[in-house]
Amino acid sequence: MKFFSTRNKDNIVSFNEAILEGIASDGGLFVPEYFPKVNIDNLLNLDYKDLAYEILRLYLDDFKETKLREIIAKAYDDKFPENPAFLKKTSNCYYLELYHGRTLAFKDFALSILPLFLENAIKESNLKEKILILTATSGDTGSSALSGFSNVYNIDIIVFFPQNGVSEIQRLQMTTQVGNNTGVFAIDGNFDDAQSNVKKIFKDKEMLSKIKEMGYKFSSANSINIGRLLPQIVYYFHAYNQLVAMNEISVGEKVSFSVPTGNFGDILAGYYAKRMGLPIEKLIIASNENNILTEFFETGIYDANRNLKITNSPSMDIIISSNLERLIYHKTNDTEFVKNIESNLEENRFFKLNEDFDEFYANFSNEDETLDEIKRVFEKDCYLIDTHTAVGESVARKYRNDKKSSEKIIVLSTASAYKFSNSVIKALGLKDRGDLFSNCKIIKDFTKTQIPKEILELKDKKIIHDKNIEVSQMKEVILKYLGDKNEN
Ligand SMILES: *Cc1c(COP(=O)(O)O)cnc(C)c1O
Repeated sequence: MKFFSTRNKDNIVSFNEAILEGIASDGGLFVPEYFPKVNIDNLLNLDYKDLAYEILRLYLDDFKETKLREIIAKAYDDKFPENPAFLKKTSNCYYLELYHGRTLAFKDFALSILPLFLENAIKESNLKEKILILTATSGDTGSSALSGFSNVYNIDIIVFFPQNGVSEIQRLQMTTQVGNNTGVFAIDGNFDDAQSNVKKIFKDKEMLSKIKEMGYKFSSANSINIGRLLPQIVYYFHAYNQLVAMNEISVGEKVSFSVPTGNFGDILAGYYAKRMGLPIEKLIIASNENNILTEFFETGIYDANRNLKITNSPSMDIIISSNLERLIYHKTNDTEFVKNIESNLEENRFFKLNEDFDEFYANFSNEDETLDEIKRVFEKDCYLIDTHTAVGESVARKYRNDKKSSEKIIVLSTASAYKFSNSVIKALGLKDRGDLFSNCKIIKDFTKTQIPKEILELKDKKIIHDKNIEVSQMKEVILKYLGDKNEN
């Protein structure tokens, strides 16, 4: 299996090259040459690791079985519970709990395994340079990537997060991250500023040659890296298997997934699962008030000439959804077309498309609806969900009402409610104590749930990274980081 750029079919590379590059040299994103087909009957009774092996081997067909199994075992070891992606049933819904990894968000699934793939790729390709991972984050990628890459040999990681766009726990998770290979900077812009500048730096010839002199090469831990996407396919199958095992559906019956969406990475993995043969009726794109995707899927118009709103689901506060580029390629199979669309987007922040996206349903949840959903679900089912999951739940209900459909719907539960404690306090009508840890305690006492130990541990950690920078300083900061490193 090879991977090529969404903007040029001839720019074709191996999996190792694709993950080392992060983004293609022409600015495109790597996609698999084809979608391998599976027979779901053969996957039904596998545990998470065996299932991951059966899915990933189809894309990584040049890996030796022992090597791939070893990497999977190391990624999904006791950092995760026995069943890493538990499917919870409530009175009228199913939640796929993807937040039991180290940083309490679904991104741990991909970012526990990507560092191992990269480490392996560096070894196998005899790369002379070290890797510098540049990451723009709306909160969860940063903490998850820092945790995954901390102290990985021959890889450094620098994270840029929006100063005013992350929750307090997300900030603490990043600013207290230890590791002699990590740099963390708050920027005075939003996620889109961070993401678009990181993408520019990847293409900046002067930067590329400067860091090369210092012995480095860039890569990415954002979901533009195909190594982020593939591991996420696995849990769609795992969710389906659990529904079958619970006798909630028969084998082959179609289900829908509601996915809280920002950069379109998580839901795209669902699309890959569907193309591989998982019986999916609809992929429900759930947005917050940054609802550019809702508009796009309704009208075909992608108009990024708007201001980003800071919402109570900050990990989805995004205007330019990078992975939409991959979907547009898969729907059109036309790299020239994608190239034109993307250059339109870069120049005019606008494009228009006449494609039919039947597999999807898109809608959004406003701030109040999201908080109401947390309250409603807790009162009805004594089940606590976070703001992002609440967006997924709210839009799943809109879908049900709009389409009068009856298939089972699985909501991807993307983060622990404790990560967004201030909003959860508000949703449940509790009194905000102003202090993060007191607020967690209030939620705990009221909901009779446990505060995750990863949050309790933050209390005693030292803040190591406290630098605020302007967007215009990103390049300078990268060079200084490497310069300081080379001196030591
Ligand atoms: C990143 C994130 C999302 C959005 O996922 P995308 O792959 O960017 O669409 C949703 N919820 C949480 C909690 C996240 O961290």
